[in-house]
Amino acid sequence: MAEIQLKNLSKRWGSFVGVDDFNLTIADKEFLVLLGPSGCGKTTTMRMIAGLEDATEGDILVDGTRVNDLEPKDRDVAMVFQSYALYPNMNVYENIRFPLKVRGVDPSTHDEKVRRASAMVELDEFLHRKPAELSGGQRQRVALARAIVREPNMFLMDEPLSNLDAKLRVSTRAQIKNLSHELAVTTIYVTHDQIEAMTLADRVVVMKQGVVQQVGSPTEIYDRPANAFVASFIGNPAMNLMDGAVEGGTFKAEGVEVKGLTAPDAKTTLGFRAEDAEVVESGGQINAPIYTMELLGEATMVSVRIGGSLVSVKADKNYRADIGDIVSIKVPMEHCHLFDAETGERVG
Ligand code: ATP
Repeated sequence: MAEIQLKNLSKRWGSFVGVDDFNLTIADKEFLVLLGPSGCGKTTTMRMIAGLEDATEGDILVDGTRVNDLEPKDRDVAMVFQSYALYPNMNVYENIRFPLKVRGVDPSTHDEKVRRASAMVELDEFLHRKPAELSGGQRQRVALARAIVREPNMFLMDEPLSNLDAKLRVSTRAQIKNLSHELAVTTIYVTHDQIEAMTLADRVVVMKQGVVQQVGSPTEIYDRPANAFVASFIGNPAMNLMDGAVEGGTFKAEGVEVKGLTAPDAKTTLGFRAEDAEVVESGGQINAPIYTMELLGEATMVSVRIGGSLVSVKADKNYRADIGDIVSIKVPMEHCHLFDAETGERVG
């Protein structure tokens, strides 16, 4: 059992704020993903939970007990990093067994534990090999098995897939998801990859410049981003965002007129996702020349330029037109997201 509470957690180096007033309760067995661009404070947050970095302010509680002053080895966490950090002279079996030896676990249980952990990550056939004789994906699985074998209270994973090629990343991601279901241990997982976050997480924390922007399930964050930053960070392609103004319930920008909105009169950013809009013969709220078209296989992505930003819509895979043709784009009202142009906060 491990419920983790972060209370007013901050990290500063001089006047630089790495993590700013982080507050969250992570439920027992939850898979929590910290997501954000490089430098937003994800790793620092995780290092504070692991005890590898002192918090400047705030408390970390595990099952109600403050752990700020505990050494990393006393926090019962297992970490998996992007660099596998395996011992090159030990074979796979010994690498996986190593944490059991260090922690003084009863030697008569080692063999069974190592074999169970290696079976979980499908490494049974490689136990005699040295790390140099393994592929990147296999090495990362050894690192996973070494974390599993300890039966820790929580897993902390920092970009564990980022050294793998695209195909291996997908299969190892699926394996982590399956393992987390099987092991049911509280997990905090750091990534800058929104697809990893969406596929793995029970809840996602989106961070920017040390500040939490939104906490929610993948669906909540995708369907109702709290601000324009989250909207632009989640989804592939990113949400279309257009700067304009709302006047009397109508959003206007060059080539765009969306009526019937409930947002207040102000400079506003209108957002919608490519898959939520459609290309129509006429009468859409956006009318502009086609800037580019891309065949995606299952669809055609049609893009126009509105006030300097690219706005994309998924059309049928058989859609045919030429660059420069005027298209009409229809955006259903229920799929319009409105953000304050100054603060970026959601207004409708
Ligand atoms: P990445 O995805 O690139 O790993 P991150 O979100 O994990 O990024 P952190 O490693 O947590 O980011 O770093 C957050 C910020 O704190 C960065 O701007 C970084 O430069 C800064 N930082 C990290 N460690 C130190 C340090 N020891 N001294 C000063 N600044 C630091």
